[in-house]
Amino acid sequence: MKRMYHMVRQILSGKRAINNSIKYLLVCSGVALVHLCFAISFAAVHVMPLAIYNIASTAFYFFHATVTNRKKQYMFIYISAVTEVLFHSCMTTLLLGWDWGFMIYAIVMIPISFYLAYTLPNHEGGIVSPMVSSGVVILCFNVVHAICRHTTGFYEGKYPVNMSVAFYYFNATVAFLILLTFSILFALEIRYMQRRLEQENDTLEEVAKTDPLTHLLNRRSMNGYMAQVVNQRKTFCLMMADIDDFKKVNDTYGHDCGDEVLIAVSNIISCCVREEDYVCRWGGEEILILVRTDLTLAAQVAERIRQRVASKVISRKGKEVRVTITIGVSEYHNGMSIQSMIEEADQKLYRGKNNGKNQVIA
Ligand code: GH3
Ligand code: MG
Ligand code: MG
Repeated sequence: MKRMYHMVRQILSGKRAINNSIKYLLVCSGVALVHLCFAISFAAVHVMPLAIYNIASTAFYFFHATVTNRKKQYMFIYISAVTEVLFHSCMTTLLLGWDWGFMIYAIVMIPISFYLAYTLPNHEGGIVSPMVSSGVVILCFNVVHAICRHTTGFYEGKYPVNMSVAFYYFNATVAFLILLTFSILFALEIRYMQRRLEQENDTLEEVAKTDPLTHLLNRRSMNGYMAQVVNQRKTFCLMMADIDDFKKVNDTYGHDCGDEVLIAVSNIISCCVREEDYVCRWGGEEILILVRTDLTLAAQVAERIRQRVASKVISRKGKEVRVTITIGVSEYHNGMSIQSMIEEADQKLYRGKNNGKNQVIA
């Protein structure tokens, strides 16, 4: 019961798709129930052909609700249900008369055929099948009306007027309830789709922004963020970090190990900066960091990163791998371009490399 409640809540909030088998179980059981009501009513007023027909159609919908539904033959259920409802509406109206209100069900079939057709799994027929069934409905509606105007139904006049009025209200109410149910289902379906699209959009955006190996920002997204930060004209620094002798790591331990080292260094750097700072995989083993502090603090952050990388031991197949990192830091001054800041950080990095590596040049 609790699970059921949870599932309904999730469906209502658009977090969960409406399962086709549950949907068709509900729809078929509902229609079967309506036909059962008709069968009882017609038997009570002694319209035996319609009573028998409705008993048969009740069985037909229970069969759909269970066997056909279990076989996932939704297309078959959809086509046969639309055909049956239309046939029943026309036949009952021709036998009893227009005033009994059975043609209302035919009108209801138009939105339902669109809904059912478009929510069929692997639906590729597009608009054709619901358009065809809608055309048939319109045609039947008018033809049946014309026939009713010019002829008298087999059972017409045999029953008191209040009986046809009672049936009319019953039919109208059931038809409205069916429309309401399908409108809700349709709205829930749209909400679920919308939510899923939003989530997929977020995922794609995330993928487009990051480097797949290190999960750091990629160069393209970093360029965007740096442009934003420059426009804010506030203090910030850029650090260009490069792993020392990384080629040797690859040559000695293999490329996979090199990848692991790169990931470990990226994680250390991400942990050393704040949420509002940006860390980007600028090139192969070059990492560009934007910190929103002045040069003194940035130099301290860079030094902390250098120390943590140097003390990190990466265990790989029983071997211990250690690496060091050299960092060049540049500070933003009014009017400076990002390009010139990167060049400055790069030059300092180059100086650090020439100076023996494993150091910060601010
Ligand atoms: P230096 O101290 O001067 O920076 O020397 P280095 O060996 O680190 O620099 P170099 O530019 O000679 O070599 C960089 C190496 O980084 C070469 C390249 O194969 C490796 N590399 C670049 N991207 C990746 C990657 O994604 N994974 C791995 N495993 N290696 C990479
Ligand atoms: Mg290097
Ligand atoms: Mg390099």
